[in-house]
Parts: sequence; C-alpha cells; structure tokens
Amino acid sequence: MLKVAGLKVNYGAIQAVQGVDFTVNDGEIVTLIGANGAGKSTILKTISGLLRPSAGTITYNDQNLAKLSPSKIVAAGIAQVPEGRHVFEGLTVAENLRMGAYLSPKTRDEQLKSVYEQFPVLKERRSQDAATLSGGEQQMLAMGRAMMAKPKLLLLDEPSMGLAPIYINKIFDIIKRIHAQGVTVLLIEQNAAQALQVADRGYVLASGQVKMSGTGQALLANDDVRAAYLGG
Ligand code: ATP
Repeated sequence: MLKVAGLKVNYGAIQAVQGVDFTVNDGEIVTLIGANGAGKSTILKTISGLLRPSAGTITYNDQNLAKLSPSKIVAAGIAQVPEGRHVFEGLTVAENLRMGAYLSPKTRDEQLKSVYEQFPVLKERRSQDAATLSGGEQQMLAMGRAMMAKPKLLLLDEPSMGLAPIYINKIFDIIKRIHAQGVTVLLIEQNAAQALQVADRGYVLASGQVKMSGTGQALLANDDVRAAYLGG
C-alpha cells in the first residue's frame, strides 16, 4: 500500500503541492485528476524520488520513500511512465525496453518476452529506431519499458496526452490489462472521464490540494466534477 500524508513540495518559492493526503491500496487503480498546474505531475515525481518533499511522508509497504534514491524506489517495486513518454531516440525499440530492466539484467530476456506478448506491436518494431514510432506506439514503448522493471505499482503520468482517439482507447485497454495481471496503478490524467471510468477511486486536485475524493463512479456522477472536468 502507498500512503501519502501531509505532502508538500516546493519549487523555490512556488508551493506546487500544499499538504496532500491519499492512499493507493494494493490491487487498485487510483486516479488523480485536475486541471493544468494542479500539482499532479509534481506528486508523481516526488513518489518516484525525482523530487523531494518539503514536508510530509510517502510510505510504500512501510518503507519511507523520501529516504530512497530513484533506483531504490524502482527496486522497491515502483516504476513510472513519465509525461511525454521520453523514449530514447537513436536507440531501437528493443534497446529502449532493455534499459527498463537495468536493475535486473539476469531476468531481462524473460521479461522482454513477456512485454512482447503484452505489446505485439513492439515486437514487430523491435529493430526500429524509437524516434520513428507514432505517438501512440511511443506511449506503448514507454509503458513496456516500465513493465520491464516488473513493477508492483505503476505510476502513469498523462498516458493519453496528445494521442489520437483510437490510441487513447488502446492505452486505456492496456492499463486495464496490466491491472488485471495484478499490477496496482496510480494514474494521472487530464482526460478525467476515461480515467474515472477505469479507476476504483479518484482524487480531484486543484491548486496543490485534494478538493474531493470518492469512487470513480461517484466522482463521474458528481455535478461539481462534471461541470469542472467533464464538460458539464
Ligand atoms: P500538468 O498537467 O500541466 O503537468 P500538473 O497538475 O501535473 O499539471 P504540475 O506540473 O505538478 O501540475 O505543476 C504544479 C505547479 O508547479 C504549477 O503551478 C507549475 O507551474 C509549477 N511547476 C511545475 N514544475 C515546475 C518547475 N520545474 N519549476 C517551477 N515551477 C514548476
């Protein structure tokens, strides 16, 4: 279980996250929704150790993540798919995937086989430069690369951003499939409607604070959420 309590994160004088509490139970899909600048990405980067909190705690199965390096956090079972995908251009699809297993070289080939089964398109394109993939394929590559680390908890930062509708649906199907294999998911999305549809629970963030929380279905039906995030 991931437990975030009293989390504050600053960029210099800017208080991007202002005392946030939430939990992600094992086996859940939890989504954080909210407008641009609400603090969603900052929270995700702090969980994965790229940023440090100025106050509060982040615990994962009773380990204090704030004390661990990003690679120790990956070793603890948490992998992040960053906003904007960040595939390594100039490297092939297969090379990108292998990078995702840098902490576990012994099981890399076995894990690569499993990721190719999950993402047949990545197998087809394994020798191709990652830069030549479409946006949707690059998103799959970024997700496949994270799965190479065999995470127990997958952090997804805006996976549907900038994709054509057909790819958006595919990405949400993949999220459901990964979850069905026993991976817990923390999903950040501006596409609140689809995120709440797949999520067990959600938290609505605004100006660095949690304004509302509930089951995905309850938030989808909430008038304030509908007016602010679902186009009325
Ligand atoms: P988006 O969907 O646009 O990424 P978000 O909800 O993920 O939005 P954050 O990226 O976490 O929001 O940003 C929260 C606040 O922190 C915003 O006011 C943003 O301008 C600010 N911020 C984010 N990154 C930095 C940075 N590197 N330096 C200074 N301020 C930052």
